[in-house]
Amino acid sequence: MKQIDVDVAIVGAGTAGLTARRAARAAGARPLMVDAGPLGTTCARVGCMPSKLLIAAATVAHQARAADIFGLRATVEVDGPRVLERVQRERDRFVGFVLRSIDEARAAGEMIDGRARFAGPETLVVDDHTEVHAKAFVLAAGTRPVTPPPFRGLGDRLLCNETVFELTDLPRSLLVVGAGVIGLELGQAFRRLGADVTVVDLLETVGPLRDPRCVDSARGAFADELSIHLGYQLQRIERVGDAVVCAFRDGDGASHERHFDYVLMAAGRVPDVGQLQLDRTGFPLDERGVPRCDPLTMQVGESPLFLAGDITGDRPVLHEAADEGRIAGRNAARFPQVSPGERRCPLAIVFTEPQLAVVGLPAADFDGALHAAGEVDYGDQGRARVMNENRGLVRVYGERGSGRLLGAEMVGPRVEHTAHLLAWAIQRRLTVTEALALPFYHPVVEEGIRTALRDLRRRLG
Ligand SMILES: Cc1cc2nc3c(=O)[nH]c(=O)nc-3n(C[C@H](O)[C@H](O)[C@H](O)COP(=O)(O)OP(=O)(O)OC[C@H]3O[C@@H](n4cnc5c(N)ncnc54)[C@H](O)[C@@H]3O)c2cc1C
Repeated sequence: MKQIDVDVAIVGAGTAGLTARRAARAAGARPLMVDAGPLGTTCARVGCMPSKLLIAAATVAHQARAADIFGLRATVEVDGPRVLERVQRERDRFVGFVLRSIDEARAAGEMIDGRARFAGPETLVVDDHTEVHAKAFVLAAGTRPVTPPPFRGLGDRLLCNETVFELTDLPRSLLVVGAGVIGLELGQAFRRLGADVTVVDLLETVGPLRDPRCVDSARGAFADELSIHLGYQLQRIERVGDAVVCAFRDGDGASHERHFDYVLMAAGRVPDVGQLQLDRTGFPLDERGVPRCDPLTMQVGESPLFLAGDITGDRPVLHEAADEGRIAGRNAARFPQVSPGERRCPLAIVFTEPQLAVVGLPAADFDGALHAAGEVDYGDQGRARVMNENRGLVRVYGERGSGRLLGAEMVGPRVEHTAHLLAWAIQRRLTVTEALALPFYHPVVEEGIRTALRDLRRRLG
């Protein structure tokens, strides 16, 4: 077996792993990435980018259909193969950029292909060809979709984010299992492209929202378009010929039996640690089979093992994976001199319509004795109404006493932008009064945020 000695061995050449490599190099270390493939990152290959490409097509179709309200006539004919062909072509372009940087790493002797497993706390074995010894390790192995057992016999009728963008035509009907971020984004996009879509979830939540008033607002908005059943109970799922038959009871106890072309599994993601043999590192593993790390240093205990990206189970979004890779790569290179990195105000966005966002303080941590909430309903907000996008509710949270802005849950138009404004204000530790002293143009959807902030200021006294 080939033996390689490096300073920092990185498992995974996804967003976190690639950033860790750059940071380790910048800190003067010799890094080595190991990836089992397929290469190209979850984001570019099967995540952020193809999903947004599909949503872009769906949005155009939806807007054309809704043109009538403005006195315009448009007919929409969806050409499924061409829609998907553009998704794949543009996706491949994004993947191409990533593959180029991986090729550069390979040429520099800093990338090997193969599945890594731990043989001991300081040794990785890659497939059966290479043994890697390193002074420190960055584990950036990402996550994979979960498929609950009843759905496992559906063969090629079962889709997930790894396979759905490979379709060559749009499904006529789709059961989406999971009303989380992925299920909602893709479910609504396929609906707008003409599929008959049913979304089911065991929980009563919608996307990342936890504030009951925001959940209600989002649920109402999506129910206008999608057949959405929260708190459902699966009774039967089976493949019959080329169709899938699903019988379930909805949250109100009513029974349904429906036929679908495909099932899209979006019921959560778990760390991809099956073959990593993390038990050989000697660290206690959590219920997901992964050791816990310090979110500021990304270090596991006092050890030379660092985590980065979705595998941490914390903040599974791209910019956080990159930040974590940067912190982990630098600290692994300098080990045992480890220092905390800077973390950003938490921000998660869902690219549905209405868009959803969660910023800063999680609604689950809201405590009426310490915090107050202000809100705005977008139903009558001026600019939103002008654009026929007047749906949604935004709730902003502040701290009693200090008057500081702490967080928000958002359902509404152009939330991808307004959520950034709030995240920036929160990270700069602005009080609600300071945020209100900043400019708000007219007529813009940001004026709705001002209404919510004024309401919050009143409630904070
Ligand atoms: C459908 C979808 C839509 C998304 N949309 C957004 C969005 O709009 N905005 C956003 O911010 N985030 C989005 N995300 C999340 C974002 O894509 C992830 O947070 C990010 O890609 C995680 O990067 P990572 O480096 O942790 O993992 P990955 O990019 O998955 O990299 C992990 C790598 O590890 C490798 N690997 C695993 N095990 C081993 C092993 N034993 N040996 C060798 N290699 C191994 C894998 O092959 C893989 O290349 C989306 C995700 C999905 C699935």
